[in-house]
Amino acid sequence: MLNANCIDPWAFVAEKQTAVWQFSLARLDARVADGGVLSNPQNVIQAAFTGGKNAQNQPFIDVHLSAVLQMTCQRCLKTMDFTLNNTVRTLIFADENAANRADELYDDVDVLVVGKEISVVEWIEDQLLTALPYAPMHDNCQMVSLPDDNSTNPFSVLKNIK
Ligand SMILES: [Zn+2]
Repeated sequence: MLNANCIDPWAFVAEKQTAVWQFSLARLDARVADGGVLSNPQNVIQAAFTGGKNAQNQPFIDVHLSAVLQMTCQRCLKTMDFTLNNTVRTLIFADENAANRADELYDDVDVLVVGKEISVVEWIEDQLLTALPYAPMHDNCQMVSLPDDNSTNPFSVLKNIK
């Protein structure tokens, strides 16, 4: 029996299945939960897995991640919303040699060697960490913070010393 959060990738592809999972960030592992830039562990991420075969008859799994995540702006350290909308197609292989050949053959594809089952949670974690901006920032931090108060401006202190 498969774990509820695992899929058999080969059956999934052969039957062109689609499945959707939802997890709060708190249920993902420490790399995600303690990532620092993700500030709300209650945020929910939705992942849609679709199996199929491409024009070359090569099995693939498409994973679409969507979420609105609260992240910490790396400039002003206030919270910002980041809309995640990320789809990755991964070609799956049963043996490493075939996977390596495909990796060399096609420039822009993800390849993965898989066994009889894959963990949905680990897949989501890996894709999420790749999709997140390294240093998320507001377009304009001033729009979300209060205007500077002169009393806390270091230059106004200098002016008083003079
Ligand atoms: Zn900011």
